[in-house]
Amino acid sequence: MTQATATDLSNTEKWQNLDGAHHLHPFTNPNDLLQKPPRIIESAQGVYLTDSDGNELLDMMAGLWCVNMGYGQEDLIEAASAQIRQLPYYNAFFKTSTPPAAELSALLAEVTPAHMRHAFFTSSGSEANDTVLRLVWRYWDILGKPEKRVVISRKNAYHGSTIASSSLGGMEDMHKQGGVIPDIVHVEQPNWFARRCELGTDLDRDGFGRQVAQSIADKIEELGVDRVAAFIAEPIQGAGGVIVPPDSYWPEVKKICEHYGILLVADEVICGFGRTGEWFGTDYYALKPDLMPIAKGLSSGYLPIGGVMVADKIMDVLINQGGEFNHGYTYSGHPVCAAVAIANIRLMQRENIVQTVRESTAPYLQKRLRELGEHPLVGEVRGVGMLGALELVRNKENFIKFDKDIGVGAICRDYCFANNLVMRAVGDSMIISPPLILQHGDIDVFIERAWQCLDLTQKAIA
Ligand SMILES: *Cc1c(COP(=O)(O)O)cnc(C)c1O
Repeated sequence: MTQATATDLSNTEKWQNLDGAHHLHPFTNPNDLLQKPPRIIESAQGVYLTDSDGNELLDMMAGLWCVNMGYGQEDLIEAASAQIRQLPYYNAFFKTSTPPAAELSALLAEVTPAHMRHAFFTSSGSEANDTVLRLVWRYWDILGKPEKRVVISRKNAYHGSTIASSSLGGMEDMHKQGGVIPDIVHVEQPNWFARRCELGTDLDRDGFGRQVAQSIADKIEELGVDRVAAFIAEPIQGAGGVIVPPDSYWPEVKKICEHYGILLVADEVICGFGRTGEWFGTDYYALKPDLMPIAKGLSSGYLPIGGVMVADKIMDVLINQGGEFNHGYTYSGHPVCAAVAIANIRLMQRENIVQTVRESTAPYLQKRLRELGEHPLVGEVRGVGMLGALELVRNKENFIKFDKDIGVGAICRDYCFANNLVMRAVGDSMIISPPLILQHGDIDVFIERAWQCLDLTQKAIA
C-alpha cells in the first residue's frame, strides 16, 4: 500500500476531523476550532488527564470545577455499574421513588446545613436554578404575595445557561444573545480588584464590601420590598473570575436579606462539596440560605446530577398550604446518577477530604499560590480553599490592566495548555479549581509550570 488513505490518519486526526465536521461546542467560536482543532482528552487518572497523543496534563480545573474526588475512583465506577444493572431508570412523579433517590436525599440532609432537610433533584446546575425560580415564586404565591417576583442577582454572576438561569446570571455576553427574562435585576459584584484598577486611587476593602452590599438594599428600596422575592449569589463567584468578596460583604448582605425578609439563595454549584475547606460555601461564610442549588461536585462530575436544597421554612409552606408543585424533570432523582452521588459523598466522608483540604492541602496551595504574586505580571493573588486566581496586569504598583485587545489571559492559558497545565483564563484572571485530592507534590508541579508559563507570557507580550 503506497497511497495515503483515511486509515493512515492518526487517531488524533480522525477524532479532530469528526469533531470539526459535526460537533458544535459550548461557549466556543466554531470558526476558531476550524483554525486550531480541539485537543482530544482520552483518559484520566487522579489529577492527570491523558490526551490522544499520550501527553499528561495536570488538571487544575477539575474538569469544569466538578471532578472533586479526581478521576478513576473505583467506588463511583462500581456504584454506577451496579445500579445500572439493578434499575437503570425509574421516575419520582408517580408517587414512586427509588432506593438511591431516597438515600441521597437523606445523605444530603446530613451534610448540608441543619435547617435544610429536603432535596429536589435536577440533572444540572442550570436546571437547579430554574427550579430555584419556580420555588421562590411558588413560595410567595402560596403566602398570598404573588407580586413578590423580582430576584436580585449580581453582575458577572454565573448561574447556568438555560434562558432562566442565564437571566439570573450576570454575564453580558450571554444576555446579548439570550436576553433576560422579566423580574430579574442585577446589582454590583464585590470585585475589589476591578474597582481598584478603575479608580486608580486607594480603596478600602471592607468599606467597598459594605458599599456593594448596600447596593442590594438600595435596589430593594427602589423597587419596593413588596415586589422583591429573593437575592441570589454564589458565596464566591466562580466563572466570573474567582471573586472572593471582602470580609465585610457577606455579614452585611445577610443582615439586609433578614431586614427586608427576602429569601437568600446561595448558589453552591462550585463552592459546595468541600471546595472552600468546609462542606459548603455557606458554612464558610456562616450564611443561612433558604435555597441552595447544588451540582458539579455532588457526583464529582461522573454523571450529571444537580439539585436544590430547600430550607424547612419553605418546606413547611409547601407541605401545609401548597398543593401540587407543578414542576419536575424526567431525570429528577435518576437512580444511577443518585447512586454515584451517594458513593461520592461517602468517599468524601471516609477519606475526610474536607478536613484534609481545610487543614493541609488548601493552606499549602494558598501559600504557594501567593509566591506567584511575586511574578512581575501578577497584580493580585486571591483564593479560598481549593479556589484561586491570579490577576495579570501591565503595572502592578499602579494597578494598571492590560489593553483588552492583547488578550493576555488567553495567551497565558495557551502557554499553560501547551505545557501540560490546565489553568483557565477569565479575561486577564488566571483561575484554578483543582480536584480536592490534589497532593502537595502536585501543587509543587503546578507552581513550577505556572511560573514558567507566566515567563513565556511576559516574553510574548514584551
Ligand atoms: C456551573 C454553574 C452552574 C450551572 O451548572 P450546569 O451544570 O453547567 O448547568 C450554576 N451555578 C454555578 C455557580 C456554576 O458554577
